[in-house]
Amino acid sequence: MQLAGRNVLVIGLGLSGVAAALLALRCGARVVANDASPRERLSPEAIGLEAAGVRVVAGGHDGALFSGTDLVVLSPGVPSFQALEAFEAAGGEVIGELELASRFVTAPIALIGGTNGKSTTTALVHAMLEAEGLRTFIGGNFGTPLAEAVGQPFDALVLEISSFQAERVPTLHARTHALLNITEDHLDRYPSFEAYANAKGNPFERMTADDTAVIPFGDPIVLRQAARGKARQVTFSAEDPRADISVEGSDIVDLITGERYPLSLLRIKGTHNVANACAAIATASAMGAKPGSIWKALATFSGLGHRTVLVAEIEGVRYYDDSKGTNVGASVAALRGLVEPKAVLIAGGRDKLGAYAPLVDALRDKGRALVLIGEAADRIAATAHGVVPIRRAASMEEAVQIARGLARPGDAVLLSPACSSLDMFRDYKDRGDVFARAVLAMQQEEKP
Ligand code: ADP
Repeated sequence: MQLAGRNVLVIGLGLSGVAAALLALRCGARVVANDASPRERLSPEAIGLEAAGVRVVAGGHDGALFSGTDLVVLSPGVPSFQALEAFEAAGGEVIGELELASRFVTAPIALIGGTNGKSTTTALVHAMLEAEGLRTFIGGNFGTPLAEAVGQPFDALVLEISSFQAERVPTLHARTHALLNITEDHLDRYPSFEAYANAKGNPFERMTADDTAVIPFGDPIVLRQAARGKARQVTFSAEDPRADISVEGSDIVDLITGERYPLSLLRIKGTHNVANACAAIATASAMGAKPGSIWKALATFSGLGHRTVLVAEIEGVRYYDDSKGTNVGASVAALRGLVEPKAVLIAGGRDKLGAYAPLVDALRDKGRALVLIGEAADRIAATAHGVVPIRRAASMEEAVQIARGLARPGDAVLLSPACSSLDMFRDYKDRGDVFARAVLAMQQEEKP
C-alpha cells in the first residue's frame, strides 16, 4: 500500500490510534489526528504526535477535517457520526488500525475472536509458538497495536480481535482464525445479536482452503460465520468427543496429530479454560507448533489476572476475582467452572441489555446467594427473584462483607459481575483490585 503524499485522518487517539498515526507518518503520509475529547484529556502520547509532525485536532469531529482526506483510520471505540458516514457514502475508505498495519506485515497472522476467552487463548497460543522457537508478536485487542510490529522480524503474529475491530478489516488475511463462541454482549452498541455475530465473522471471508478456521463443535451460530469463507474447519470441544480436539477421559485428544495432553497438565481451571486450551492447541498446531512445544506451554501457562484468580481463603471460604467476567456468558462459565459446589456471586454493574436468564439458571445449580451492585441490579434481581437469596450493596466493600455473612465453609465467593465496570470503577482491573483489597483487609482483621 502506498501512503506517501496521501492525506490520512486518524480518528480516536487511544493506543491504537496513536500507533496508526505514527505508522502512516513513517510511510510518508500527511497525518491529521482527531479525537472528540478536549485536548487536556488526551494522553501524553497523543499530544506527543505533534512533535513528530502530526496535526492534532481535539474536542470534536469537525466535518471540515474530511476535505482532502484520502484515507480514514477509525479507532474501534469511536461510535459513527454524520460526517464520517457522508465521507464513506461518497466512496471514501475507512479502515481500522489492524487493517492498516496488516497491509505492512508479512508474517502469518493467527486471529483469536469470540465473546469470551479471547485473551486467555491468545496468551496460550503465543506461549505455544514461542516454545516452538518462533519469534511471536502478541497484540491487537490484547494490548500492543499491530502497527508496532511493522518492520520487526516476527515469524508469527498472534492477534486478539474484538467485534469492533472486526468491523473494519476488509482485506486482512488470517492463516488461522479461532472464533471461540458467540453469546450476547454489547447489545447496547449493536442493533441486533445477528449484527454482532456478523461483525465477529468478517475475517473468515478472506480465508482460503490453505487456512484454518478453529470453531466450537456443534455451534450453528459460529459455523454459519465460518462458512462465509473457504477455510478448512477444525473443531474443538471440552465435552463432545466428536470434535477434532476434545476431551477423552483425563486427556485432551488431538485427532489430527494423534497427540494426547493430560488435563492434569493444565494450571488454568474450569471447563471453559479446557475449551480455550483445545482451541489454542488447534491454532498453534496449524501455525506450526509441534506437540512438544504445546506440552511445554500448557504446563507453564498459569492464566491472566482478574480471570477467576484465587485472592484468599478465609474461614473455609475461597474468594475469587473474576472481574473480567463482563457479560452473562463469561459469568456463567466462571460460576459453573468453580470446584466449590456452592458460591455467593457478586454481580452487577453497567448493563449491556442482554438477558440474565442463563446466569440465573447457573445460580439455581451453584448459587448460595446473590449480592448485587451497580446500575444493572434491578434488572438482575427481577430475573433472579425467588431463585436464591438476593442482597444489595452500595459499594464493593459492602458487597464483600455481605457475601462473607452469607457464605458457608466450603463455599466460594465469586466476583463475576456479568456487566461492565464503568458505572462504579475506572475499568475491570480497578474493580477487581478494589474487591481483592476488601478481601485481604478482611483477612488481615482475622489474624490475631
Ligand atoms: P476475553 O478476552 O474474550 O474477554 P478472557 O480470556 O479475558 O476473554 O476471559 C474473560 C472472562 O470470560 C473470564 O474471566 C471468564 O469468566 C470467561 N471465559 C473465559 N473463557 C471462556 C470461554 N471459553 N467460554 C465462556 N466464558 C469464558
